[in-house]
Amino acid sequence: MLKIQKLHKSYPIGDSKLHVLKGIDLSVDRGEMVAIMGSSGSGKSTLLNIIGMLDEADQGDYILDEVPIKNLTEKKAAVYRNKFLGFIFQSFNLINYKNALENVSLPLYYQGLKRKKRIEKAKFHLEKVGLLDWASHLPSELSGGQKQRVAIARALASEPKLLLADEPTGALDSTTSHDIMAFLQHLNDEGKTILIVTHEEDIAAMCKRIVRLKDGIIMEDNFVNQVRATAHV
Ligand code: ADP
Ligand code: MG
Repeated sequence: MLKIQKLHKSYPIGDSKLHVLKGIDLSVDRGEMVAIMGSSGSGKSTLLNIIGMLDEADQGDYILDEVPIKNLTEKKAAVYRNKFLGFIFQSFNLINYKNALENVSLPLYYQGLKRKKRIEKAKFHLEKVGLLDWASHLPSELSGGQKQRVAIARALASEPKLLLADEPTGALDSTTSHDIMAFLQHLNDEGKTILIVTHEEDIAAMCKRIVRLKDGIIMEDNFVNQVRATAHV
């Protein structure tokens, strides 16, 4: 699914630079559910953003679904991003003045789908996350867990090959976090490849593999016995 080799990334700070990723090697196969762990500032989001083609590495190779990701035009990058990747964020990133259905269907507009097809697909995915009855509600009318499920429906609507989640439970209480993880496990059981950035051990334990980053280097990379999350909804 993806292969990263000798990846480096620095951010400029004034006249010097901050070396954030210092030679990352990582391969992920189809069907995996991987946690990227590490303390705050260890480079987790930087790595996920590069994997998600939201940012570019300075050095190294990245191959996503057999496509080398390097020096792509903005347009080409956007096409691959749409085709391959779905994103979930800690802060949900829903559009406040659009209802749940519109939030899920909006990315499909950029895929060129006709209105009827967009609504049909958005409804299907809202139903999948158990929120079809909430289709006409604004994000402000939803709980944190419901917002994250809308965000998951939005990510899934474009049928991505790889789902990327940056601290998806970071803004949720532990019961709701387990619900979200149970749903992500269910998606993984169905075959979806998922990468989850987290700094919480119990969340990482619900994945099948844990990659530990420290100061921009992978210190550990192990397959684990996945703890099954208990859903409450
Ligand atoms: P994590 O997600 O593990 O907390 P990040 O990847 O967000 O870590 O950040 C790693 C380091 O890079 C941090 O020290 C952070 O302050 C710095 N950093 C992240 N993004 C930028 C940026 N756009 N410009 C400058 N420094 C950045
Ligand atoms: Mg982060």
